[in-house]
Amino acid sequence: MNVEVILKEKGGDIISISPTASISDAAALLSGRKIGALVVTDGTSLSGILSERDIVRAIVTDGAAALGEPVSHFMTENVVTCSRVDTTLRLMDLMTGGRFRHLPVVEDGQVIGLISIGDVVKARISETEMEAEQLKMYIASG
Ligand code: AMP
Repeated sequence: MNVEVILKEKGGDIISISPTASISDAAALLSGRKIGALVVTDGTSLSGILSERDIVRAIVTDGAAALGEPVSHFMTENVVTCSRVDTTLRLMDLMTGGRFRHLPVVEDGQVIGLISIGDVVKARISETEMEAEQLKMYIASG
């Protein structure tokens, strides 16, 4: 299974925030949408990614004052991205190697989706189930 199939199933909803928005706004968006990371964009290009872990770090570093600081202070700027054709195994490699749980999907310089570790696990389970089913049919046909 690849990113294209995963996006078809989950939809290409991208929840993003501006680098100038506050950490408090970001926390409210994460909580309201029940998600773990936001794509940070200035409207034209990908500026970074901000996850719940960055907000925890911000609070540990600056205390309550962190809530009024801009997203740009705590986001990760060097974002690892994936493409439409990447397989679940490739996504697992990227997430494990980079120790993060989110991958924006980029095409022609535009973010077209966001894959979370939950999406990858779901896709991998359905792949494994399909493989088991094929194996059962193969054994039964012999
Ligand atoms: P996560 O595990 O996705 O909650 O993120 C853990 C840390 O990795 C946070 O500092 C994120 O900003 C950062 N991060 C998340 N996704 C990516 C990504 N695709 N590329 C680079 N850094 C990321």
